[in-house]
Amino acid sequence: MVEVIVSGESQTMTDSHKIYCANCLHCKLVKVPTENTNKYYLRVRCNAGKWRKKLGEEKYYKYFTVARRTLELCDSYEPMGDPKEFLRELKKTLPIKDEVYNY
Ligand code: SF4
Repeated sequence: MVEVIVSGESQTMTDSHKIYCANCLHCKLVKVPTENTNKYYLRVRCNAGKWRKKLGEEKYYKYFTVARRTLELCDSYEPMGDPKEFLRELKKTLPIKDEVYNY
């Protein structure tokens, strides 16, 4: 018989024992203007301030890479649902490369 114990820690893990930032409440989609101001790129940021460059500046990631942002642990992770299902749906709509959009 297998006993399943649900704890706060296990709720933050997927089957692969990874946290997917895309499934976290703090992972936010932002528009970053190009030099041509009526166009923009899509980027993601962590509004819990966890993504930093070496010198401390905030780091944004390209939106099309968001499904690759994984962590072993994060003390600010706030899941928005079942990660597998969420990622499956997300991958259907994610662009395959960095796109430029019009405002
Ligand atoms: S709070 Fe942690 S899990 Fe959530 S987006 Fe930021 S780094 Fe990822």
